[in-house]
Amino acid sequence: MTLRLFNTLTGQIEPLLPADGKALRMYACGPTVYDYGHIGNFRTFLQIDILRRFLKLTGTTVRHVMNITDVDDKIIRNAGESGVPIGDYTKRYVEAFFEDLEALRIERPEQIARATEHIPRMVALIEKLAAEGAAYKTDDGSWYFRLKSFPEYGKLSKKDLSGMEDGARVDVDEYEKDSARDFALWKAPKPGETSWETAIGSGRPGWHIECSAMAMEYLGESFDLHCGGEDLMFPHHENEIAQSETATHQQFARHWMHVRFLLVDGRKMSKSEGNFYTLRDLLLKGFKASAIRLALISVPYGNQLNFTFDGLIESTKAIERLRTFRDRLMTGKFPVGENSQIQEAAKNAQEEFLRALDNDLNTAEARAPIFELVRAANTAMDQNEFFAADRDAVLPVLKDFDAVFDVLEDRDAEPTRRALAWAEKEGRLADVAPELRAAQSLSDEQIEAKVAERLAAKKARDFRLADAIRNELAEMGVILEDSKDGVKWKRK
Ligand code: AMP
Ligand code: ZN
Repeated sequence: MTLRLFNTLTGQIEPLLPADGKALRMYACGPTVYDYGHIGNFRTFLQIDILRRFLKLTGTTVRHVMNITDVDDKIIRNAGESGVPIGDYTKRYVEAFFEDLEALRIERPEQIARATEHIPRMVALIEKLAAEGAAYKTDDGSWYFRLKSFPEYGKLSKKDLSGMEDGARVDVDEYEKDSARDFALWKAPKPGETSWETAIGSGRPGWHIECSAMAMEYLGESFDLHCGGEDLMFPHHENEIAQSETATHQQFARHWMHVRFLLVDGRKMSKSEGNFYTLRDLLLKGFKASAIRLALISVPYGNQLNFTFDGLIESTKAIERLRTFRDRLMTGKFPVGENSQIQEAAKNAQEEFLRALDNDLNTAEARAPIFELVRAANTAMDQNEFFAADRDAVLPVLKDFDAVFDVLEDRDAEPTRRALAWAEKEGRLADVAPELRAAQSLSDEQIEAKVAERLAAKKARDFRLADAIRNELAEMGVILEDSKDGVKWKRK
């Protein structure tokens, strides 16, 4: 099965194949570590996670490189204001980023590349551009890329740049939407700013050159796929193409994938709008990491997604449904035999799931048949028409689903615990939902003890006491479930 993925460069859905026939070489623009990431940022990383997991599920080896931008205008400014070296300033945000990735079960790329560890590679690329006549140095010691030297500029974002003025420059890392100007490759330091002494002078790299240099370092001059959020298409990716292709005279990335925005009330979730939530904000409100993951991936990457709390609640319930079903499947005793309708439903669900992902990673259409199968199997179980062979047919479907969605296993306690420890350290306990605080104030052992106490009360036929303990636990956000195999508990 070959993934067919929309390619921004050609404007078509095309097969995504490793050009070398071995591993799919892909590059994803990573975070700028000047602050905690918001869930809009993570939506992009989650959707890229879906891509890589689906490729792996269907037998493709992936070589995925992601950068960390650990030097830029904001980092230098913020570190300066805090009076610490940039490495000290970014350290906590780099750590937080990896913690958040883990909480959201986003697989780590095969290679993480930090900008500050690849300065010589960037300098070499700028020298190459200078030799091609495409880079020039200004009086202050900065270097710029001459857009006029790359006539194909605009081919990714399909912008008409005919009115472009030769020599008009921009030196900030991000610039307004429609202006195309010579952009900074290398920035001379202002007094007191972090800088590197190099063959092209003292200074630091621009944002765009980082990605070109590091992508080519690990993936070669020409590779299979480049990904990022939709805001990176112009100018960042356009600039990466211009620099790289001018230097190598080869196609940089063959396929480009852009993840559409996470919105709040119809506007892009962003730091500057102030309309954002971090993962930690939501964990402290009592939402589970798995529900946040499911909410952010259930709308396909090619569509924008409006963030709502209702959406999170819906995902929470959906995960409950799946996990309860999985438990029922694993612990139930089913008679020998099979139900041909369930056999058929499992086969169809599997096919539809794979077909939907294969079709430009349509996660919404991929999850629907899985929930449909769960419903059919639950009904069959209720009617005692579910058999051992049906379990064997349904389990692999769930396994494939979870190889991509990864929400079935309950690993939610740890991220929440970590977020609480973080809130305590940061003096943000006031942001913690009261129920969550109560549930966490009881240790697992304390809950076990209460559960045992309740069981003893029930055995002694003291149902009043047993109910009182159940209610007490419920108020502390701990839910008890009586089943044939004993009592199970979980934090809400
Ligand atoms: P940054 O750390 O700002 O460079 O962003 C990291 C990644 O998140 C980039 O690929 C951005 O395009 C992406 N991104 C930023 N805001 C959003 C959003 N609201 N929705 C989806 N992706 C976003
Ligand atoms: Zn980039």
